[in-house]
Amino acid sequence: MQLPSGIIEVAVPLHLEQTFTYALPPGFPNGVVTGLRVLVPFGKRTITGYILGFAQNADGLKVKEALEVLDTEPLFTDSDLEFYRWIASYYMHPLGEVIKTALPPGLTIMGRRKTGVADDGSSVSEELLSRGTRCREERHFLASVEGAPQALKGRALELFSFIGNSEGRSASSIRSRFGESNPQLKRLKDLGLIREERREVYRDPFSQQPVQSDTPLMLNSSQKNAMEALEQGIDSKEFRPYLLHGVTGSGKTEVYLQAISYALDQGGDALVLVPEIGLTPQLVERFRRRFSCGIAVLHSGLSSGERYDEWRRIRRREARIVIGARSAIFAPVGNLGILVVDEEHEATYKQSDGLRYNARDLSLVLGKQRGAVVLLGSATPLVTTFHAAKAGRIAELSLGSRVQDRPMPDTVLIDQRGRKGATLSPELTEALRDNLAAGGQTILLLNRRGFATWLECRDCGHTLRCPNCSVTLTYHQNRKRHICHYCDHSIPAPSLCPECSGGEIGLFGQGTERLEEEISALLPEARVARMDRDTTSGRGGYSRILKKFESGETDILIGTQMIAKGHDFPGVTLVGVVSADTALNLPDFRGAERGFQLVSQVMGRAGRGDQPGKVLVQTLNPGHFALIAAAAHDYEAFYREELAERKDAGYPPFSHLAALHFSGNSLPMVEKGAKAAAEHLRGMRRERGWHLEILGPASAPLGMIRGRYRWQILLKSIGRAELHRLLLQFRREHVPHSTVRMAIDIDPLELL
Ligand code: ADP
Ligand code: ZN
Repeated sequence: MQLPSGIIEVAVPLHLEQTFTYALPPGFPNGVVTGLRVLVPFGKRTITGYILGFAQNADGLKVKEALEVLDTEPLFTDSDLEFYRWIASYYMHPLGEVIKTALPPGLTIMGRRKTGVADDGSSVSEELLSRGTRCREERHFLASVEGAPQALKGRALELFSFIGNSEGRSASSIRSRFGESNPQLKRLKDLGLIREERREVYRDPFSQQPVQSDTPLMLNSSQKNAMEALEQGIDSKEFRPYLLHGVTGSGKTEVYLQAISYALDQGGDALVLVPEIGLTPQLVERFRRRFSCGIAVLHSGLSSGERYDEWRRIRRREARIVIGARSAIFAPVGNLGILVVDEEHEATYKQSDGLRYNARDLSLVLGKQRGAVVLLGSATPLVTTFHAAKAGRIAELSLGSRVQDRPMPDTVLIDQRGRKGATLSPELTEALRDNLAAGGQTILLLNRRGFATWLECRDCGHTLRCPNCSVTLTYHQNRKRHICHYCDHSIPAPSLCPECSGGEIGLFGQGTERLEEEISALLPEARVARMDRDTTSGRGGYSRILKKFESGETDILIGTQMIAKGHDFPGVTLVGVVSADTALNLPDFRGAERGFQLVSQVMGRAGRGDQPGKVLVQTLNPGHFALIAAAAHDYEAFYREELAERKDAGYPPFSHLAALHFSGNSLPMVEKGAKAAAEHLRGMRRERGWHLEILGPASAPLGMIRGRYRWQILLKSIGRAELHRLLLQFRREHVPHSTVRMAIDIDPLELL
């Protein structure tokens, strides 16, 4: 049947499976419609939808007319849409919601406003001068210009440096610094060393300071082998997944940089995912130093207008390298050549609400769709990743030891059993003293912020608990309050037990705040700093503390796991882990893996400079295989044992998981809802004879968060397809009670 032209298929950002058809507004020009937002009547409302394309089959052809097309430029392309459709199907999430999650936030709020004009005013155009390099390494460029060495002297060199190698400088700033008439400027322009252009100027809160450029390092032999494999992969223009496996300090980042440089030279763009962008200023800086082409850094400090600006720079290929946390997987990279996932084992790649996607997993999907190289890097790869590498589905590139044969730090497990209440063992205390006396820097990790963990009455045993969440409140001394780390509920510190009015209340457990106080008392001459979520709020919070530590103004840095991440501080010669047990004891089958990762990562902070490092790990589980393997820098030993345990218990990679989360304000309703769902699932399994395990329903380990009760069901299946079919059918048939929210979580990470 011939369709009237101008019938479009529209996805709406609501919890609805289907898409809808509308007629384009009269007079809308013919052309590409995919990726434009459109204002449509929907029931009694008017909402913003996304045009997927012209409709293939319009039911009955009695379609409503769309009110207005909101964009002049598409926000996504057909290949983006292919990615969105895959996500919608795999994660069982409505397509319109997927698109909304993928697009920069704020677009939908902007509503009727046209794109191209952002929230806070129109964009301006300004004259800019930049160095004549675009996405080429500076040294290649300079070598290619005849007369460059002769010209780049004195004031001309000063000018050239001022212009910088990243984004260029505005003509006005050059005039104000170097004067109105400037013969050197003309000379450099004539030689082609710099060029002038009019460019749209984007709002950037972290105005890109020009940085000193650097050059690629001479690779060692294992880095070279890795590069050769990667170059072949990039040349193939096909999907090739790699695992870059090397201990911290083995030179993975250098391989990323050179592989990206190679991909750029071949015309490909690069996407780099990092666990948390605020924690990686050093990585971003290394990229800025190395590349003269535009780099887009997508970080959470961007306003929605700024984020949208970055999007446009990426779409226009003005920025050919994109660095960002998990949501950067949706950045509109034009011609993806290489996708790097740094620290691929990190749990932060998983989004834990709304569209519960995992950017690490999606990197492989995107790489496949775009024919790109995917490089997963880690010192402690996921057990599932390493298993895939062993099975040959991912090519393993191993870097082995640290560069320049710097030794791995000496690691000792300290048995804290029977040492009740002592935060610091005599061994750690002595090491702290010695290291301070020797002028070395120390990192102390304690994975709990606040002063004390909980308050308990010695008379009646009463503890202070959050009324909204199933956790105890944590005492924060600087605010003199007990605070909930989940919902921020807080109460002033009582002087008597609120239950029995007894005076014998005590603070138990350890937090970073108390540890800081203890260390300062123990070593009054030491300069101590603390890094956790309380001390790093606000823009630049992290970098302020990290910079001081880097420059040696701090002797001892105390912090939560955020200090264990990829920082590179050559002066650190001692690392202490106050307790390695928190991760191990998680009520989750990944506890051992988390414990291994944490200890390995924190060990990686020691001895990165010329001095060897030492690591002391305090634990109540000194016999745990994960800790022993971590201390011995033996990933394979950890992997073998962990894999055997996963096999016994039937956990990934030997099965696929899905979780159903139920939540609501009424505990009986949530419980009833979860039980009904489990019964329904068991009925379906019986009927069809499917092989899969249904665990639960059970109250979640954190049974209540922010006043909402939580129950869950875990599904375990050998076959992914079977699990998917069951869930699809279940969702079609099962109608949860209106007061209970049910969320499907494919490949769940946190089962708390
Ligand atoms: P990773 O990312 O594995 O932790 P990096 O790439 O940060 O390792 O390298 C660790 C340190 O060694 C960095 O200071 C880096 O500049 C240096 N480095 C890396 N590769 C080489 C090399 N081939 N020659 C000399 N130094 C190197
Ligand atoms: Zn709470």
